Amino acid sequence: MRPPQSPACARCAKLLGKTCCEPRGTEHLAMVTRADMGRISAHTGLAPRRFTEEEGVTEREAADFEARWPLYRGYFGRGPVRTTLQARLGACVFFDRRHGCTLPADVRPLACRIYPFEQWGDGSWSLAVGRYGNLEEARAEGGACLVVEESESMEEIFAAFGTTREVVEALGAQLAEESRSHGRG
Ligand code: SF4
Ligand code: SF4
Repeated sequence: MRPPQSPACARCAKLLGKTCCEPRGTEHLAMVTRADMGRISAHTGLAPRRFTEEEGVTEREAADFEARWPLYRGYFGRGPVRTTLQARLGACVFFDRRHGCTLPADVRPLACRIYPFEQWGDGSWSLAVGRYGNLEEARAEGGACLVVEESESMEEIFAAFGTTREVVEALGAQLAEESRSHGRG
C-alpha cells in the first residue's frame, strides 16, 4: 500500500491478499542504493542498519542480475552483496497497515517509486508484474498488482499512479546513475 501513488493501493491488500510492501515466503523487498539510504537516514534519523538487510549472492548471480536489469548495472561493483529494505513482521519496516508507506514519496527508494514499471535488458520499458485478468487467480498466484489488474493499457497504468512515462524513465535514469555510484563505493 503506497498512497498517494494510486488510490488502488488502499484496496490492494483486501482484494489481492498482500501489497507489494509485504514480501511472501523468502522474497526480499526492494533493493536500495547508498543514495536511497542517505535520503531515508536524513529524513528519519535512522542508521541504515535499522531499515536495511544484506543478502550475499554469488558472483554469477550478481552478473546475471546486472545483465537482466539495466537499472542496476554497476551495483555489484564492490562485491556480490545486495542491500534491501528490511522486513519485520511480514512487511517493510516503513509500512503501516492502515496508512501504507510512512515515507514521503520523494524519500522512498527509487525502486519503490518506479514499481511496477521496469526497464529490460534491451532498454524497453514495461511491467515488472504479469496481468492475470482475474482477481481470484491473481490472489491465488500472488505477486500481482491491483492497478495492473484494473487497467487496460500502459497509459492507464501510468495515469492510475498519477505519473507519466517520462517521469518514470527519468527516475530510471536516476536509479541507473545511483546504482553505478553504489558499486563504485
Ligand atoms: S501491488 Fe500495485 S496496487 Fe498493490 S500496493 Fe503495490 S503498487 Fe499498489
Ligand atoms: S519503502 Fe514504502 S513503498 Fe517501499 S516497500 Fe517500504 S513501505 Fe513499501
